Amino acid sequence: MGNQVNSKDNGHRTVIEHHGCSSTTQTDRLSSGRTSEFVEETCGNKALEKIAHQDQKLEIQSYADKLAIIKEVLARRHMKVAFFGRTSNGKSTVINAMLRDRVLPSGIGHTTNCFLSVEGTDEDKSYLKTEGSDEEKSIKTVNQLAHALHMDESLDAGCLVQVFWPKTKCALLRDDLVLVDSPGTDVTTQLDSWIDKFCLDADVFVLVANSESTLMNTEKHFFHKVNERLSKPNIFILNNRWDASANEPEYMEDVRKQHTDRCVNFLVEELKVVDREQAPNRIFFVSAKEVLNSRMQRAQGMPETGGALAEGFQERLKEFQNFERRFEECISQSAVKTKFEQHTIRAKQITEKVKSIMDAINIEAAEKRVAAQEDREYQMDRLDFVRNQLNLLISEIKKKIKAISEDVESKVSSAMGEEICRLHVIVDEFHSDFHPSPHVLKIYKTDLLTHVEKGMGKNLAFRCSDAVNASVQSSQSYMIDSMLPLLPSTAQSQVQMLLPNRKFDLSYDLNFSKLCTDFQENIEFQFSLGWTVLVHRFLGSVNAQRALTLMDQNFQHGITQAPRPALPPACTPSSGPPSTISQPNHETAVMTQEDMMLAMATNVASLTSRSSMGVILVGGVVWKTVGWRLIALSASMYGLLYLYERLTWTTKAKERTLKRQFVDYASEKLQLIVSFTSSNCSHQVQQEMATTFARLCQQVDQTQKELEAEIRQLTTKIDQLETVQSRSKSLRHKATDLERQLEEFTNQYLQPQQ
Ligand code: GDP
Repeated sequence: MGNQVNSKDNGHRTVIEHHGCSSTTQTDRLSSGRTSEFVEETCGNKALEKIAHQDQKLEIQSYADKLAIIKEVLARRHMKVAFFGRTSNGKSTVINAMLRDRVLPSGIGHTTNCFLSVEGTDEDKSYLKTEGSDEEKSIKTVNQLAHALHMDESLDAGCLVQVFWPKTKCALLRDDLVLVDSPGTDVTTQLDSWIDKFCLDADVFVLVANSESTLMNTEKHFFHKVNERLSKPNIFILNNRWDASANEPEYMEDVRKQHTDRCVNFLVEELKVVDREQAPNRIFFVSAKEVLNSRMQRAQGMPETGGALAEGFQERLKEFQNFERRFEECISQSAVKTKFEQHTIRAKQITEKVKSIMDAINIEAAEKRVAAQEDREYQMDRLDFVRNQLNLLISEIKKKIKAISEDVESKVSSAMGEEICRLHVIVDEFHSDFHPSPHVLKIYKTDLLTHVEKGMGKNLAFRCSDAVNASVQSSQSYMIDSMLPLLPSTAQSQVQMLLPNRKFDLSYDLNFSKLCTDFQENIEFQFSLGWTVLVHRFLGSVNAQRALTLMDQNFQHGITQAPRPALPPACTPSSGPPSTISQPNHETAVMTQEDMMLAMATNVASLTSRSSMGVILVGGVVWKTVGWRLIALSASMYGLLYLYERLTWTTKAKERTLKRQFVDYASEKLQLIVSFTSSNCSHQVQQEMATTFARLCQQVDQTQKELEAEIRQLTTKIDQLETVQSRSKSLRHKATDLERQLEEFTNQYLQPQQ
């Protein structure tokens, strides 16, 4: 019968299988392939901050697994029926009854924990194959098989033993049907793994229950597990051993109703595999033993009843045949249809889920992308702001540094000027043992230099340092305040650490001892109305020097009568530092008024010094003019004055003179270094400020670099998110495409025929 149905539907079935396989292949490709890969990749990408979640990954993976099973079922050409139930419920007997022969051993309990499958072979003899071996072990009788199973110690629990039975002997096996007998739901603790291994690709499940007892929880549990893994499995419940109930005919109807109700509830309410109207077509009350016996007897040419006719046998036989008819229907066209229908529905659900996961990923990626873009825009604005602001600040702060440096320069310069004017005060404050002897004098001068350097430094510091330091500090604070907004908040708190921790202090570095090494005092007695002094007084020290030198030359010229070029004037101690005074080359080049006067004085001097005759002549003229009394008075006054000055030329006076000479000398020297020192100070300030500014700039540079790196990172992230979006979109389109194909397939092949 099954043969007829199948051959009739062969064309249909092939088409369905073809389509089923193609859609499965696509489904498989969609889910277990790129989709699963994509979700896993997205999930694993830490930079994308959980765009795809772990549960989505697991969900997609589970779909991939399910699709793999669907694919396997659709790819398989044979139909598979799995028999379940507790040991000794009669599973083997039912299979034998269906096969109309004692193919499997029965009544000996389940000797092993193996699954036994029976399928047809085109060969004449029956044989078995054990898992992991291709050896065909010949079996002639059922007892031999039982013995073989019993003795084979290599058989592991839960392994598969395939029994090949000649198709010529059994019509049912001709249609590529495979019947699988299980070890019994009560004997195993590894139910889940066995379901996965042997049952997930079964097309029909037959629960062989014992009508003498109620449906056991272990049996129910098994089908719950199957139901979890497969969508709406085809399940039949055979309440076997119904012949035993014939012993108590008065309770039969009640027992049947009770069993039926429970079974219907189980199928409809608990498993939800059929609706209430269909459920009775799945529940049968049979006696496999009776059916097998009668069929065996018939095969041997004996009457079908097998002699002793048990009460109600005919009904039970009919019901068994009924079951067989339904079963064949189920595994034939309708089973095929159901199979594809179920899988198509499942595939649609999966595509729906895949679509929603892709949508979720797309939305999540879009949100994250928009956020990342906003973030990048903000960072770019900030970078622009920092750059522009830094440029503005650089020019502004440069100006400020320049202004402060100039200010410091003028401050220091004016302070030095004032201090030079007040130099005599510092010098007067110096007290030490003074004696004209060269040794003491040397020590005295060294101490004086130290004193003046110290005093001057102190005074300069007093005048400038505070103001300069304050202005440096305020400028530094200004710099920090203006740079602070350009730094990230983390760096802002640490900005104080960037400043030099020493306090800035101006160093004037007058280097007095070196500056005044050339100082040479003149503390020889000099009469204030002496010739040299008078010349000095009338001509000024420079001209007097020159005049005296020329006079000296003329005098020598007069003696030697030999022409000589004018020599540069020699330095005299009282005339200050030689380097500054003697510049004859320049000044002799141009004839000035001063030079004329000088020439006149030189001539006078020359005349007077040539001979005492001149003196007498002048004296005679004066005598004639003013009279001798006045001359005598003047001479005595002159003499008295000389005497007085000679007497007051004490050590004290000498010290005073030295100090005065020193003040003059040092003042002149200091004047020379005013601009150098002030520009040195200004340089120090400039240096200090520039250092601080450079450090701040460096920090801002760092900030800029960080911002640039962050922008780069965000750009990468945006790119990745865009890829995720486009991939999720394309996978969604594929899912939609597949859904459309499934819809077409359903419309074409699975819609009820009009
Ligand atoms: P399995 O362990 O489920 O495969 O059960 P078996 O098929 O080996 O059967 C166990 C015992 O129950 C055997 O002795 C069978 O003869 C007996 N048996 C099987 N079916 C029936 C039945 O319908 N009625 C009665 N009375 N005994 C049966």
